[in-house]
Amino acid sequence: MAKTIPQLIDGEWRESRSRELIEVTDPATQRVLALAPKATHEEIEAAIASAKAAFLTWREVPVPERARLMLRYQHLLKEHHDELAEILAEETGKTFADAKGDVWRGIEVAEHAANIASLMMGETVENVAREIDTASWMQPLGVCAGITPFNFPAMIPLWMFPLAIACGNTFVLKPSEQDPLTPNRLAELFLEAGAPKGVLQVIHGGREQVDALLTHPDIRAISFVGSVPVGQHVYRTGTAHLKRVQAFAGAKNHMVILPDAHKDQVISNLIGASCGAAGQRCMAISTAVFVGAAREWIPELAAQMAELRPGHWKDAHAAYGPLISQQAKQRVQRLIAEGKAEGAECLVDGSQCTVEGFPDGNWLGPTLFRGVTPKMSIYREEIFGPVLICLEVDTLEDAIELINANPYGNGTSIFTRSGGAARHFQHAVEVGQVGINVPIPVPLPFFSFTGWRGSFYGDLHAYGKQAVRFFTETKTVTSRWFDDEPVVAGPNMTIHLK
Ligand code: NAD
Repeated sequence: MAKTIPQLIDGEWRESRSRELIEVTDPATQRVLALAPKATHEEIEAAIASAKAAFLTWREVPVPERARLMLRYQHLLKEHHDELAEILAEETGKTFADAKGDVWRGIEVAEHAANIASLMMGETVENVAREIDTASWMQPLGVCAGITPFNFPAMIPLWMFPLAIACGNTFVLKPSEQDPLTPNRLAELFLEAGAPKGVLQVIHGGREQVDALLTHPDIRAISFVGSVPVGQHVYRTGTAHLKRVQAFAGAKNHMVILPDAHKDQVISNLIGASCGAAGQRCMAISTAVFVGAAREWIPELAAQMAELRPGHWKDAHAAYGPLISQQAKQRVQRLIAEGKAEGAECLVDGSQCTVEGFPDGNWLGPTLFRGVTPKMSIYREEIFGPVLICLEVDTLEDAIELINANPYGNGTSIFTRSGGAARHFQHAVEVGQVGINVPIPVPLPFFSFTGWRGSFYGDLHAYGKQAVRFFTETKTVTSRWFDDEPVVAGPNMTIHLK
């Protein structure tokens, strides 16, 4: 019998009293790895109350001490890198190499959070008026909450709580119910690094637990990553309850291929960026836009793509793993069937796929369509599977127009040897993260993760300086110190023009 995982409330790992349990399954076998509780109302209240109480002392802890916690934490995460990747690979099905990448991209954010003293520096101007100075300070908000998706169970929680806590906030994390084992282990290591009681809470569950966080008066800010409909719900409900919200949502990322690009690089990058992690990355390339004669490479792309094989995470030759759930697999199968019915040409069809030794896994083979038009559902919807669709246009201008008309704006890339074409593309395209001969341009943590338009609701983005702004309030202090002779203030506004 699988065990029910505990929740981190008020500094202790507690068994939930909930009778509602969600099965966490190994997507390669359907074996139930654990049960995740749906936190009860009392448990959510206890977590938030503990975070609220802890904030009063944590906010007073000197910044270098908060930075040292992050230094110890990133060190521990590195020591446990392989162990974390094994937990992650088992519950997501990602290959071991890809699971290590997921953990590593999170470690980099924890490393960056150790620079918090520099990141929280305000601004000063001396003599804003005669003998008056103004300084700005960044102060923490209070209790913040994070709601994370299944597809990066290490990286995305680590986008959120290390920086929020380094800023002096306390944090309630509600990870995806589909793979909560990795986030629980991340939290255990955070306690081992010396995090004081109550600074981080972890509760489990789904929609009801998220709604409790969105509407709770003691939560100041919500960081969300997930699908478009849930992102819109989180943004609308959170802001209606007067919270600061950043909601990162779905995507449809296009890669533009100019005929002067290097063909072999194009093909290998397209295959890796579309099928890696079974296409379940928000920055996956799901749409290839071939310009002019570059379309002649599509048959070779199809031949190479057909060779790709999914497999179990322990199989070092597997290109990628299963989809996260049977429902996710069925959804992608439905979209593949719709693509065929709507008239797209399916050059590689992975909709019926088996992997020897794992008859029950949520497998899908690589799938490639050409002849796709913007009206088809495989173009309009985020597929989130190992499926690449190809569109063909005559000019770079046509490609830019197509991308800018798409509602999403997470990432895009161009493959070319022309500096002029790349410069024009980076300037004109209305997408927040642009790669030039780089298929998945995810910025490192000293920048911010800057999706645009339908891929993001809010103002300030994840990690980097923007996240520090998101998790803090700015206070400006204007001061004047009197000498022995007091200056008597008059009733009128002072005019400094002479
Ligand atoms: P999801 O929206 O189903 O779930 C995300 C979180 O919301 C989970 O914690 C879940 O428990 C909760 N949730 C689910 N339904 C809810 C509801 N009705 N009300 C309130 N909360 C709810 O997303 P997912 O399937 O876990 O993740 C995949 C999606 O996330 C994809 O669309 C992908 O593009 C997106 N994503 C975006 C980014 C980005 O940076 N833009 C990064 C990673 C993933």
